[in-house]
Amino acid sequence: MFSNKNLNEIVDKYREGRLAHAYLIETNNFSKLMEDLKELIKVINCPEDYQEYCQNCNLCNLINKNNLPSLITIEPDATSIKKAQIEELKRAFETKPIYSKYNTYIIKNAEKLNGSSANAMLKFVEEPTDGIIGFFITDNKDVIIPTIKSRCQSLVVNYESDNILDKLNLTEEELDNYKELIKEYIAKINSTTYINNKTLILSKITERSSLDKMFKILFKIYYQYFLKNLNKPFNEELTKIIEIQENNQEIITKMNIITKFLQDLSYNVNMELLLDKFVIEMRRANG
Ligand SMILES: [Zn+2]
Repeated sequence: MFSNKNLNEIVDKYREGRLAHAYLIETNNFSKLMEDLKELIKVINCPEDYQEYCQNCNLCNLINKNNLPSLITIEPDATSIKKAQIEELKRAFETKPIYSKYNTYIIKNAEKLNGSSANAMLKFVEEPTDGIIGFFITDNKDVIIPTIKSRCQSLVVNYESDNILDKLNLTEEELDNYKELIKEYIAKINSTTYINNKTLILSKITERSSLDKMFKILFKIYYQYFLKNLNKPFNEELTKIIEIQENNQEIITKMNIITKFLQDLSYNVNMELLLDKFVIEMRRANG
């Protein structure tokens, strides 16, 4: 179910009843790992037969909303993880969970455990209590305090970059310009009073390749809303560019229009003609 085989192995171990009580995970992408961990924590706790992106049960909903009392995430407070944060965690986990099978803690930037907070932590990992499971997250496990490290099962979970800058080869500034243009352009398409949209684009874009980039970004934005509607992890940054309140059927229609546009563009169809056609189709899709 995960793109990473090491995470899938944890699920297998869970099904065999052989979960470790603490995992040390090195990763190159904290936010993606956190999303995956949320899913993993659902799998091992879901009272129903967990289906991918379960939306049926209370537990999975609580996890989605970061509202599950038996799931505690600790992050460094300024420069380090303080002993008081660990003490608080211990107190919270003295009682058995109500909604979930496990009390689960996640220590983000586990390399920021200092001497005293690591000591406070050790009891959890040294004398594991049934029903408590921990994840220590770091971007470099070589700098984790050895006493913690030696008591965790250690794995690496790296992700490929899907950064739009990497794929389209844009600088920050270029991306910002495209974002601005997209914002203005889509607002004009959605406004019934404005007719001539192509002048806006053509005053700023003359190259076919730039138009291609702009519409690829636009596609990505719609795709993020598609994921969002499915309750899947999505790139929030991209959704900030334009606001879309459509259902996935409508979003698919628009993604098809954009795909067709990109295809025609690559077939060397006249840019003005394409832009006219695009506006007509998008407005029709708006209903
Ligand atoms: Zn569930």
